[in-house]
Amino acid sequence: MPGLLQSILFHQCMWIVLGPLCTTSMPWPHIVIDPLGNFCQCLFFLVSWIADLKEQWLIAGLAQSVCLKCITVTTDFGKPHTCEKRLGQSILESLKQIQCWYPMADTWQFFLKSKEVGLSGVEDLCWEGLVVDICDVLCVDVLH
Ligand SMILES: [Zn+2]
Repeated sequence: MPGLLQSILFHQCMWIVLGPLCTTSMPWPHIVIDPLGNFCQCLFFLVSWIADLKEQWLIAGLAQSVCLKCITVTTDFGKPHTCEKRLGQSILESLKQIQCWYPMADTWQFFLKSKEVGLSGVEDLCWEGLVVDICDVLCVDVLH
């Protein structure tokens, strides 16, 4: 339970940071001042989130040992075919499906049900609403 609460706290804190980037359509331009004092219009996008593998699972809301890039399962390891690409939207849809099936579930019950489908148990992910796919922007930290 402490690990789950720590993950929930991480997503709540990161939502404060990422919230301004969340839009339902294209981001609005912001006016910023460059080093020469000129006013410039800028669009802010999340293009890359560098993290080690354990952090990537935390960010994506996936259980450990689940692939971040595809939906393969451990029994498919070593098979020659490629698996379907994992999408951030499919992670969100899985969460919504569990919420729909178990609307009265408490935090621990939700955690147990989400583990069954390869999720971490965090109901509200900090990147929900971003215009990018979280599975595309997560990058491996090569220093780890
Ligand atoms: Zn994979």
